[in-house]
Amino acid sequence: MVIKLDKDLVQQIEDICETRRVRLTPQRKRVFELICANKKASSAYELLDDLKKTEPQAKPPTVYRALDFLIEQGFIHKVESTNSFISCCSCNADKHHSHLLICDSCSNVIELQDDNLVSLLAKNAEKHGFEISNHVIESHGICQTCSSNVENKI
Ligand SMILES: [Zn+2]
Ligand SMILES: [Zn+2]
Repeated sequence: MVIKLDKDLVQQIEDICETRRVRLTPQRKRVFELICANKKASSAYELLDDLKKTEPQAKPPTVYRALDFLIEQGFIHKVESTNSFISCCSCNADKHHSHLLICDSCSNVIELQDDNLVSLLAKNAEKHGFEISNHVIESHGICQTCSSNVENKI
């Protein structure tokens, strides 16, 4: 597989890391590039396999440490229900909760950000005296591409 890099996005996170004075090691950068290059959500093992092509000595902890860093910096999101990872659609944004639409047919993931949804959830929780510290909002279904493919076949 030839990996096409999104140079702008990588440049963007390089700049952010410099501003935040955190280290974007070559491995962290490579893992980010691999996640961006994959249209679908990537699992840690897929990432390890791809990483090994350029860094044969890479081990699972190498990937997990890189993923932890990228999540902490808000550059990627973890898709909890499929245990995989996607790049964030707004890497330069502050910490945010996103609503993920996950296609069960092709594993494509769409990230939506809706502050109204998040504040509605917070308000509902408040009625029970509950303070939310973290959300996982994931919806499963069929994406537009896959549903139009099915229609074409009929
Ligand atoms: Zn995001
Ligand atoms: Zn799909």
